[in-house]
Amino acid sequence: MTSQVHDISRTKSAELFEKAKNYFPGGVNSPVRAFKSVYGTPLFIERGDKAHLWDADGNEFIDYCCSWGPLILGHNNAEIREAVSAQLHKGLSFGAPTQLENSLADLIISNNRYIEKIRFVSSGTEAVMSAIRLARGYTKRDKIVKFEGCYHGHSDSLLVKAGSGLVTFGETSSAGVPKAFADETIVIALNDKAALDKVFSDFEGQIAAVIIEGVPANNGLLIQDKAYIQYLRDITTSNGSLLIFDEVITGFRLSFEGAARYYDIQPDILTYGKIIGGGMPVGAYGASKEIMGHISPDGGVYQAGTLSGNPVAMAAGIATLSILSQPGFYEKLEETTLTFVKRIRDFITEKNYPVSIFTIGSIFWFAFSQDEKIQTADQIAPSSMEKYKVMHRELLNRGIYFGPSGYEVGFISAAHTSEDLETTHAAIQEALEIVF
Ligand code: PLP
Repeated sequence: MTSQVHDISRTKSAELFEKAKNYFPGGVNSPVRAFKSVYGTPLFIERGDKAHLWDADGNEFIDYCCSWGPLILGHNNAEIREAVSAQLHKGLSFGAPTQLENSLADLIISNNRYIEKIRFVSSGTEAVMSAIRLARGYTKRDKIVKFEGCYHGHSDSLLVKAGSGLVTFGETSSAGVPKAFADETIVIALNDKAALDKVFSDFEGQIAAVIIEGVPANNGLLIQDKAYIQYLRDITTSNGSLLIFDEVITGFRLSFEGAARYYDIQPDILTYGKIIGGGMPVGAYGASKEIMGHISPDGGVYQAGTLSGNPVAMAAGIATLSILSQPGFYEKLEETTLTFVKRIRDFITEKNYPVSIFTIGSIFWFAFSQDEKIQTADQIAPSSMEKYKVMHRELLNRGIYFGPSGYEVGFISAAHTSEDLETTHAAIQEALEIVF
């Protein structure tokens, strides 16, 4: 039996949203926040603590969006807060090197066998955009290959058949991207070896790099087979093209060494974002010493940033990654996630609902389909998003905050307690009973 639950109050959030519309296009500073793909007005958040969020109307939620991934330690983590406040007293930005950058780089490189040198930037978009330029500069080739449904940030070359908000809005690209740029980006389907063979034969000697999300997680969770990723590694190597793993979501999420470790495959360039800054704006790209030697000031590929390596952001990154590098951190988080997911799966099976829940590491995704494997963007029926909308509304009404789009994945943080997960489990059961 599903208990009677009333819609949460959104009075204050609605007022704030009306005001915001005067200032920002669509009332937001990033499109998916506008709640266009789910019911109701976006919630204006006041504060977070551990796995919980509070909105402007005083509603409390257990958060599974986790700021779209960065908050693997939950909100208001004491170590991060203290590291950031200590730095605040020393200065916000110097535009000069600091020891903090060395410390974060050392923490990363000494615990990550896939990169020898790193460059810090301020967002995932910037990291990927720079990695693409590096690949082009290094190979002296122009074309890049990306996969349908993979999102790599909003730089021109990569806004072609991307995932995330773009799919949610029914578009596969963006106005304002010059055709000439898009022409240099070749898009193929995931999990299709023949498509890879064809692209390397059609554009022989022209492909600078193939870029893939470590595990595609912006258009549903499209977990690829290891054999396919190995094929991708081999075909790029034999054609003199670079393989870029965009680990903005998977880096420091699947493990400290991200998807590269999961597949045990050495990409040529890796990009990071989200968790690396512990909730502050940090991105990074890394590679071998040889490839990174092509970046300015040593090499001819230019890339710079006023706030790159920002000391406050570095302090947050150091505090975060110091915790993540401790033995057992990921094993525990993955175990918690698997237990959570298994209970939901058991319930779904018992009820025979046409819904599947996919998971890897501490990422999970609800697919309103009974397919046992979903590995390509075209396997997701846009009509299934109607069911997500109902589930999303019912979960909010029960104090559970999921991302406002059915294409987006959910995240479990180390701050989610067994009580949080128990409450969520009961809410999901009730929500699914209403969906079906
Ligand atoms: N790459 C991937 C895989 C992402 O998921 C994202 C953002 O969601 C980006 C790049 C862009 O990162 P940012 O939003 O920090 O610019």
